[in-house]
Amino acid sequence: MFRSFTYSALILRVRPSGESNREVWFLTAEEGILRATVFGGPKSKLRSHAAPFHQGTLWMYRDPVKNSQKVIDFDVRSWRPGLRERYERVATASAVAETILASHGGGGNWSEALTLAHRVLDALNGADEPCCVRILIYFLWNWAMLLGLRHDVNHCASCACEVPGDKVLWFSKRESALLCPSCVEVSHGPAAEAGGGAVLPIGPGSRRWLAAVEDLDPSLLARYTLDNLSLGQAKALVTGILAGSLGRRLGTWGLG
Ligand SMILES: [Zn+2]
Repeated sequence: MFRSFTYSALILRVRPSGESNREVWFLTAEEGILRATVFGGPKSKLRSHAAPFHQGTLWMYRDPVKNSQKVIDFDVRSWRPGLRERYERVATASAVAETILASHGGGGNWSEALTLAHRVLDALNGADEPCCVRILIYFLWNWAMLLGLRHDVNHCASCACEVPGDKVLWFSKRESALLCPSCVEVSHGPAAEAGGGAVLPIGPGSRRWLAAVEDLDPSLLARYTLDNLSLGQAKALVTGILAGSLGRRLGTWGLG
């Protein structure tokens, strides 16, 4: 017997299924990631509503015997048409969606995860190209915190010393920790800074920016610029933290 359920939901991914159906992956505030089938041909209204990054209220039938789930309606509140106007916006939105799927919707903090995704996608809807990169870094940084992977950009994770704002911190991939210059030398040897990719420098510009954007409303990121070196370091840090947690880098994150 079918039972019907209602959710506050964001569409993360849509794939064709059979001749005219679609499989849709949702992030819901109530149960995290859900997957359900949308039935209907190309002209069906429901099918046009069930597109990536649309957000609203989902009605779903569930058949516990067959373990199948069917979308019966989706009332879209946020359409975000601007995402499809620029390649960088839709590419960043895809990176956001794939990160959420790869980490199973945020490990239980579903309502918080949905709020963060909602604010990030709204900010992306009108962002220019340089701001798209900052929005991605912002999302990954705040997503890492939501997963419990908080990193202090002012103190060494090993000796707890306060690192002056004009100094470089080192991110150790092996330890997934930000270390002061003395501790990185102890754990990775004096040549650590020379390269090999085991440690990444996080300079004053990245540290300042990451501290400033923690919990910031992402619609304000247009004003929070940073130079290319600091941008690259911040991106390497946030993707390094999440790659360590997920066990792999996602292709949608891009290089860096
Ligand atoms: Zn230290």
